[in-house]
Amino acid sequence: MSERFRAILVNRDEEKKQSVSVTEIGEADLMDGDVTVKIDATTVNYKDGLAITGRSPVVRRFPLVPGIDFAGTVISSSHADWKKGDKVILNGWGTGETHHGAYAAVSRVKGDWLVPLPDGMTAQEAMAVGTAGYTSMLSVLALERHGITPARGPVVVTGAAGGVGSVAVSILSKLGYHVIASTGRTSEEAYLRDLGASEIIARDELSGPAKPLAKERWAGGVDAVGSHTLANVLSMTSYGGAVAACGLAQGMDLPASVAPFILRGVSLLGIDSVMAPKALRLEAWRRIGSDLDHRKLSALTTTIGFDGIMDAAKAIVDGKVRGRVVVDMTR
Ligand code: NDP
Repeated sequence: MSERFRAILVNRDEEKKQSVSVTEIGEADLMDGDVTVKIDATTVNYKDGLAITGRSPVVRRFPLVPGIDFAGTVISSSHADWKKGDKVILNGWGTGETHHGAYAAVSRVKGDWLVPLPDGMTAQEAMAVGTAGYTSMLSVLALERHGITPARGPVVVTGAAGGVGSVAVSILSKLGYHVIASTGRTSEEAYLRDLGASEIIARDELSGPAKPLAKERWAGGVDAVGSHTLANVLSMTSYGGAVAACGLAQGMDLPASVAPFILRGVSLLGIDSVMAPKALRLEAWRRIGSDLDHRKLSALTTTIGFDGIMDAAKAIVDGKVRGRVVVDMTR
């Protein structure tokens, strides 16, 4: 390992004004942990965009290397599960928020946070999935646990052209669901149909204030948007259906009524990727290996190098990124 290596660092001054710079750090700057990992690939998630632009208080310790997920190769380990050369993935657990994250050549983390890179998957493919795609799979698993099978009826995916949405559309269609994709970018219709969407609806059909109950349109959904959109999705969910809520691209509020819950027995399933227990992570990554079409994954991926992270971070919070952005750290 070279003594100093490139990193992005988020800092804060005495007036709590956040700044971000591309700099170099050394091994002595790495945080506590029992496994040191060379980062092979990472991604730019919506949360990373918020962290780098400072639009939301994602970073809670300063100075901090942002980047909430990575795939890499173990350089050294004192953890029983990992040895030098192992290929690993990390999502969440506070990396990029309170622990130095992925936007550096090297990271030191807790071995308990790591899962193995699935067989047959490269680091770049794993990060094409990334936290967004793994969250999509957690959402699909939650719908399945609730008995929302393809036979129950259509499922809606909101924020469909984004990272979570694109992967959710791909997985659900591969599993045989009739997928209704909601997007504000109708220019992306061909892209979404190629991923497997059967119907496309305009974002503004769902983004205004919701009625307590509306016509039943779907048996379930994956919602990456929150706010009025989630309220509308719930009000249009058929009897006994379920909606996995995993995002807040429109807002963190939920201006809904209890009508869907108490009159239609609809369930709202909360999805958190950050602190999800290891058994669930292993299940999600195993299912990603089997239920995500590699051709579709490359169709929804754009690859950049370390130097492109800052621009991608701004683009994602402006809603200008389609699908997933992979950062190839070997470039
Ligand atoms: P992206 O920016 O890639 O996707 C978000 C999509 O939401 C956009 O592409 C857009 O889709 C839609 N959108 C954006 N702004 C609005 C708006 N004002 N009103 C309605 N729709 C909007 O982000 P990700 O896919 O990476 O993340 C999606 C959400 O999921 C984020 O809120 C993120 O924080 C959350 N998330 C949560 C996780 C968890 O653990 N629960 C883990 C990972 C992400 P379109 O152009 O198709 O309309």
